[in-house]
Order: sequence, then C-alpha cells, then structure tokens
Amino acid sequence: MAMMNAKQYEESLRKLKLNVWMFGKRVENVVDDPIIRPSMNAVALTYELAHRPEHEDLMTATSHITGKKTNRFCHIHQNTGDLVKKTKMGRLLGMRTGCCFQRCVGMDTLNALSITTYNIDAKYGTEYNKRFLKYLKYVQENDLTCCGAMTDTKGDRSLPPHKQKDPDLFLHVVEERPDGIVVSGNKNHQTGAVNSHEIITMPTITMRKEDKDYAISFAVPSDTKGITYIMGRQSCDTRKTEGMTMDRGNMHYGGHEALVIFDKVFVPWDRVFMYKEYDFTTELVENFAAYHRQSYACKSGVGDVLIGAAQSIAEYNGVENASHIKDKIVEMNHLNETLYCGSISCAAEGHKEACGTYLVDVLLANVSKHNVTRFPYLIARLAQDIAGGLMVTLPSAADFDSPDIGKWLKKFYQGKADVPTEHRLRMLRLIENLTLGTAAVGYLAESMHGAGSPQAQRIMISRRINIKEKQRLAKELCGIEKGDHLS
Ligand code: SF4
Ligand code: FE
Repeated sequence: MAMMNAKQYEESLRKLKLNVWMFGKRVENVVDDPIIRPSMNAVALTYELAHRPEHEDLMTATSHITGKKTNRFCHIHQNTGDLVKKTKMGRLLGMRTGCCFQRCVGMDTLNALSITTYNIDAKYGTEYNKRFLKYLKYVQENDLTCCGAMTDTKGDRSLPPHKQKDPDLFLHVVEERPDGIVVSGNKNHQTGAVNSHEIITMPTITMRKEDKDYAISFAVPSDTKGITYIMGRQSCDTRKTEGMTMDRGNMHYGGHEALVIFDKVFVPWDRVFMYKEYDFTTELVENFAAYHRQSYACKSGVGDVLIGAAQSIAEYNGVENASHIKDKIVEMNHLNETLYCGSISCAAEGHKEACGTYLVDVLLANVSKHNVTRFPYLIARLAQDIAGGLMVTLPSAADFDSPDIGKWLKKFYQGKADVPTEHRLRMLRLIENLTLGTAAVGYLAESMHGAGSPQAQRIMISRRINIKEKQRLAKELCGIEKGDHLS
C-alpha cells in the first residue's frame, strides 16, 4: 500500500473497533466525536503534507529496508540529515496545527527499538531485531500511526514495580504461552492513543532483576481485545461540542491524551521486542527519551503561531508601535528560536549506532528539552501581557451573534476602526486556546512533562557532562596542573 492521504487515514481509523470511554460513556463513533476529531485532524495533516511537493523533502524519506518512499514518521534515521529534517518537520507541523500532532511518539519509539533490539541480540543471540524489522516493514508499507507507550501510572513512587501493592500499576507479563505472552497493566498520558493503528510499549524506568517481568516491549493493534482507552479532560474541552464558533480558538486542530488499560492482552511472539532483558531497559528508556526530547521542536512551531497572534492583537489594538510591545515580540522570538537551535543542534551532532541508526546527541537533546520546560511559559506570559485582560473576560460567541445584545459587543469591543471586531475577538480566543485552553495542554503542560519532567533532564545532564575534564581545563589554565603549553 502506498502512503495514505488524510482521507484514507480517516477511513482507516473508522475500521478500528476501539474501546474508548469519555465522560463515563463508551464513545461509539470515535472519529466523528466533536472533542476527539480535532486531534484526528492534526494527525491527518501528517499524511496530507506528505503528498504536497513543497513538503516532500521534509515529510517523506526512503526506507532503508525496502528502498521505497515512506512517510518520515515511519522512517529510521540513516544520517544526521534525516535527524535535522525530523526537527524541521516538527516545526512545520507545529506551526500548521497550533497543537500537538501526536505522531512523533511512535516515530521515536521505532527508532529507539531499532537500536536496542539490535544490541540485545548482539549480547544474547536473540532475534528481536529480525522481528522488529519485519514489523517496521509492515508499519511502513501500511503507513501506520503508532502510539509509543512508555509511562505507567507507577503507584507509590518510592517502590519498584515488584513491590507495588497492585502489580498492574506497571505493565507486566502475567502469562507465558508457546505462542506468545499475556500482559496486564496500564500506560498513562498516551498522546494520540485513539488516533493510532498500533500501540508499541516500552518500560518506563530502569528495571532490576526482581522487576524482569516488567522489562517488556511489544506492539499490538490498537483495537486488540482487552485494551480500554479512557480519555483525559482538557480545560475548555466542551467548547468543541458547541459547534464551529470562535470560542474554540483553534477552529481545526487539537491534541489528546488517554489512559490505556491492558487487561490480559495477548501478544504473539513475533511482536515482542524485549522480554525480561532488564539490563537493556535503561538504554531503551534513555534513547527513546533523547529522540522524543529532540521532537519538541514542535513547540517552536506552535510558538510561531502564538507570536503571530500576539503581533496581530497588538496591531488590532493599535499598540504595535509602542517600544515595549516591539521589545516583547523580539523577546518571544528570541526564546522561540533558542528552542529551535537546541533541537537542530542535537540532530546535527547525532551519531551512528552499531545497527546503523542515527541517534541524536543525548546531552544536547536533554538541554534542548529542558529549555522547553521553561521558554513556552515565558512566551505565553508575554502573549497574555500583550493580549490584555479581555482574553479572559470576553463574552461568548453566542452573545456576539445575538440579535438582541450582539450590537453592544460589536460596538464596545472594537479596536482599530478598520479592523472587524470579530477578528479581534477571534485572535484573543486563539491566544486563550494556546495559553489557557485545550492547546495549553500541548503547549505548556506537555512542554513541562512530556518526554520527561524537568528533573529527568537534569539527571541526564548530570550524567552526560564530563565535569572532571572541565576541572582539568580550569586547573591547567591557572597553573595547578602542567599542561602541554605551559612554560
Ligand atoms: Fe509530537 Fe510535540 Fe506532540 Fe510530543 S508534544 S507528540 S513531540 S507534537
Ligand atoms: Fe509528548
């Protein structure tokens, strides 16, 4: 099958029999549900742009296993050029959707598994990499969206998996059979889960010998028997049920996260990519995290939208020439481009792993994501500063459209005389959406916790820096230790 377009992707989702729950009820029609559909639209754009000649270079790649053209989201990076294009693709989609477009998690999982399956085989003589490459071919040839599932709910954080009162707080094997394994547990905050054809799991932390039943990685079709999805709420989510009013802020796109429950789910052996090799859990977690931390270039794309909205509202209000507004716009751009620099740099400094896959520079990827836990909040603060209080006191679109009171809102909420009042209100709603509403989940809270919370990056930074070497340099220059060029 060739690469799908947006419509084909949507139709492929309609064939899935997902067990999805929201507001205490089963969602019978997931694709057309008004709260879920904007997130499907965002993933659909990853399919649509792959068919546009102007985006072909970023959105597609040549498969290293089949030699055929594939969507870049299904590709294994073959050089640093691929990694740089991945960063650029993330920014492009962030700026086009103004939200989380979800598909990167699966791409990052595939790349991390390409490395770890190879390394496990090299040590233990297993056949995980062969299985993985067969699975990758299936994903590429069917142009699938994969949900990369790492984070378990984890229960008591002071206890390892095997000591939890309820063993299902971490995903684990409950039965080994001749034809495969049976697993139970959960994965939480799963981005794009109900827009995915496949779920690929990984352990969430380093596992020790006692936790070997939890050291598993596998792939299952998203509608496999025993899997339940419970949708997470987002602030202002029910505005999407009010029709296509300007109160939505973003008229087309959104993201979603779900709790994914595995209740005695069967996985055939040819879809198992790690089974009790607990000594490879750290590698898999760290490599996935590094790839996904690079992926946060998406936020510089969303930042482009927010900066554009801030400049526009300043113009609609007639304050665009005030020196402090100009300075704030420069500050927002500086912060946003710094995020982009981080993602580009860890890609450009990538290296080849033993299996041939290119991995980002892990230290730089962590530094980059650490900035992402801060800068979007600063950019959002400046956008709210420029927008003014009206963003949060504005009456509803229904009031604006009312034949009785709409005239008052049009009269009193006008800004510059040549700007339609509605444009001003729409722009304010977009800023609200990005900094307080449904898209703030992706732009802010996900920037904080997605791909690991700030402390996770600080731990990686502390592990990866060579502090002794820095001390040696200092000591040499001040004459404490003899160096090459001291006289
Ligand atoms: Fe991709 Fe960004 Fe969403 Fe993560 S937050 S899935 S990197 S768009
Ligand atoms: Fe994420």
